[in-house]
Amino acid sequence: MRALIRALIVAVATAAALGIQVPASGQPSPPIPQGAERAYTALKDRVDGAAAMEVVRFMDQFWRISGNPGFNASIDRIRDGLQAAGIANRVEAFTPRGRGWDYQAGTVSFADTGEVLLSRERDRVSLCINSFSTPGEIDAPLVDVGAGAAADYEGKNIKGALVLGSAAVGQLWQQAVKTRGAIGVISTSIAPYIRPGEPAQFAFPDQWDVFQWGSVPYDEAVKAFGFKASLRAAARMRDRLKSGPVRVKVDVRSTFYDGPSRYLVAEIPGTVKPDERIVMVAHIQEPGANDDGSGCGTLYALVLALQKAIAAKALPAPGRTLTFIWGDENRGSRAWLTAHPEQAKGVQYMFSLDMTGEDVAKTGGTFLIEKQPDPSAVWPRPSDPHTAWGASQVKVEELKGSLLNDVHLAICQRRAKDTGWVVKTNPYEGGSDHTEFKNAGIPALLDWHFTDRYYHTNLDRPDKTSPAEMANVGVAVATSAWFLASATDADALATVELVGRAAEARLALEKAQSANDQIMTAWRQWYGEALDSVLRLTIGSGTAVPAAVERAKAQAGVRAARP
Ligand SMILES: [Zn+2]
Repeated sequence: MRALIRALIVAVATAAALGIQVPASGQPSPPIPQGAERAYTALKDRVDGAAAMEVVRFMDQFWRISGNPGFNASIDRIRDGLQAAGIANRVEAFTPRGRGWDYQAGTVSFADTGEVLLSRERDRVSLCINSFSTPGEIDAPLVDVGAGAAADYEGKNIKGALVLGSAAVGQLWQQAVKTRGAIGVISTSIAPYIRPGEPAQFAFPDQWDVFQWGSVPYDEAVKAFGFKASLRAAARMRDRLKSGPVRVKVDVRSTFYDGPSRYLVAEIPGTVKPDERIVMVAHIQEPGANDDGSGCGTLYALVLALQKAIAAKALPAPGRTLTFIWGDENRGSRAWLTAHPEQAKGVQYMFSLDMTGEDVAKTGGTFLIEKQPDPSAVWPRPSDPHTAWGASQVKVEELKGSLLNDVHLAICQRRAKDTGWVVKTNPYEGGSDHTEFKNAGIPALLDWHFTDRYYHTNLDRPDKTSPAEMANVGVAVATSAWFLASATDADALATVELVGRAAEARLALEKAQSANDQIMTAWRQWYGEALDSVLRLTIGSGTAVPAAVERAKAQAGVRAARP
């Protein structure tokens, strides 16, 4: 404990010595290069949170799954908006791995009283993806297997029953449907950060009603179905089971779709280096307002803002091409990278927008920049806690420093200075579109929010989405993207300073938190590469940049790039 407090005192003292302003929120707020400030000024009032919210509301009507009508309607809605604004765009398609799916009815009720326990009308996402239709309304015994361990099935007649349990839906499916012939399952399994297991520990009344949507395997042999249920619905079923056998009526009507997976690409062409690109991606699929209606709406609003700022001559057209993609998470990014190898080669930086609209007062958590992998993704650092999402394996050999993290953080902090927005970062964890670009060797980061106590739940609806939060993210991403596409020599020199200061601050911080030699070496390497990456930033001649980079590397005591 003492060591930690000492480390904090040293870190703050170091920040002060380096002349980094530390605002009330405790976040240092370095000045941003002039070109970034210019873009920020032109964009700060032009990202329309209400327009983003309209996209969220539209998409919220549907459980979007690649190939299904709601997914395609969402693509079309954004395309029509771009079209109306005169923004060049195209829809491309690829053959998906799975099938599209949607459902019209998914109702479970007590057979005797008709009391409805689960339905589409009530919760929209309680039926699991890949559930097959029942042959009309069917009648079946309800069997509770509790936690769903092997012993919980003993002595129970599972064949032909609807099985209720708290195990993961896939596990229940395997045990009850595949092994024992149940007609379907109802699972209450849920991530611990959504709600605790014990109702006595609930902190919010809606924890009785929240559940996480899910999927069951696509299985033509059993043609069965799965449901996810809230604790309130499960408690009601268990209550009835206490007084003897219970029968339920089940009515499932679902549809599978074999159409292609579509993605939408819009571009603002670069005027100097059009073959070089900054790419921004948001994913259409999933049912949530925040995940990821908000990322799609934010991306839409920020394209419009850039277009308007350029049309009003508040901002020149970008030097490099800005590319915006809406598609099926990861698969759409992979498809674009594969379909356009020449364009993919020219991608300089990538931003993933996923869950960018959380109203943090309602959902918990904060805005987060999930950094391009740096040494904090390899070694746990006290200053860089992971989120409840969890760390993923990153090897030190995979690291390659760039200016992206520090430039985007500084631009987000610029926005924070004006709006009081809370900006935090987390080490790379992966899982969304940025992972695909990272795997293609492109510096990529994720703008998101976590923990969100409605993540992947029936309650991730527009009332949890904030237009102001989407405007904050939209302004920050648009500013960063335009700047990275349009930086002048002067901007590159200012970026050398910004990244050099960040290098010094990081090394001081790591010293204060007693990093070992291996970690210090990795940071020196990473920031050496980050400073070198500034050599590629300018769209000008860049003649003065190499000397500045060398000076900054010497001053920060970081390394030359690996050969
Ligand atoms: Zn998402």
